[in-house]
Amino acid sequence: DAKRSGRGRSVVYASSLGAASRRMNTVEQALREGLEKRQFELHFQPKVDSQSLQALGVEALMRWEHPVLGSVSPGEFIPAAERCGLIHELGALALQQACLAARELPGLNVAVNVSPLQLMEPGFIDSVERVLVRAGVGPSLLHLEVTESLMLEDAQAALRRLHALRELGVQVALDDFGTGFSSLAYLRAFPFHTLKIDRSFVRSLTEHADARAIVNTIVRMAGVLGMRTVAEGIETERELAVIRAIRCDEVQGYLVARPMPLPKFKDWLAGRPLTGPVDDMDSRVLP
Ligand code: C2E
Ligand code: MG
Ligand code: MG
Ligand code: MG
Repeated sequence: DAKRSGRGRSVVYASSLGAASRRMNTVEQALREGLEKRQFELHFQPKVDSQSLQALGVEALMRWEHPVLGSVSPGEFIPAAERCGLIHELGALALQQACLAARELPGLNVAVNVSPLQLMEPGFIDSVERVLVRAGVGPSLLHLEVTESLMLEDAQAALRRLHALRELGVQVALDDFGTGFSSLAYLRAFPFHTLKIDRSFVRSLTEHADARAIVNTIVRMAGVLGMRTVAEGIETERELAVIRAIRCDEVQGYLVARPMPLPKFKDWLAGRPLTGPVDDMDSRVLP
């Protein structure tokens, strides 16, 4: 009896595993074709000064609209692209599109997420320089967002890469800060320009005093180390109020705006502060 139910479980397990791996195969196959057929497009989400709400920069986020699969989230296709080696092509596309967008967004910096695999590729630094020169964009306008997972494999090699980027004049942000491991050691070893505080902290800010204490400490520590701070995933006015009180430099989140295609983002910029929820915030905080 135990044997039979044991077997039953393993059958269920095997078939759901089968479904998951079939989906993975489907996505990986579709990626290749999607790149050829230009199904990928960057969307842009503003990062604003937490006090004045003035836009300071944008984060470029990749979107994939597949004719049959529909819209596939980066949380699914980025790991798939990393598994099948297409992350380099996809990453190069993101850099190119982001630098072209930077030309159309004077005064704003443009942040691009970079996979550890892409950053550690031998030609990466040269390719960043080439893209910047070709687009005629100053290196300081390009921000690259990396996560702590970068340090997992070979921390020394990763630090050398980050220093090379710094020498090129590109800014580097540590993304999803607080979700990784032993962050403090790396913060001392490499002075990132910016710390992006993960939205899991932001979510608990308004409810829990300990979360407020942690974020407050992160912001003070970043200040001492000369780094800017960005709070990710601000969705409510209460979260914004707490973040302002803590004096985190910048905010990003649905409360300000969702990621949108470049033309829409330009309209959004031009239209501020005329209509919509952001303008209610503007009229409240601006003289
Ligand atoms: P991330 O870099 O931490 O980007 C922030 C994510 O939070 C984005 O999800 C964004 O749409 C979402 N977000 C922004 N504001 C809010 C908010 O107020 N509430 C909530 N719930 N979410 C918010 P998205 O676009 O699905 O991207 C997920 C992740 O995929 C990114 O996390 C990044 O790690 C990765 N990614 C996206 N585009 C690229 C890319 O071009 N290259 C690489 N290597 N990774 C990318
Ligand atoms: Mg990011
Ligand atoms: Mg993040
Ligand atoms: Mg993330």
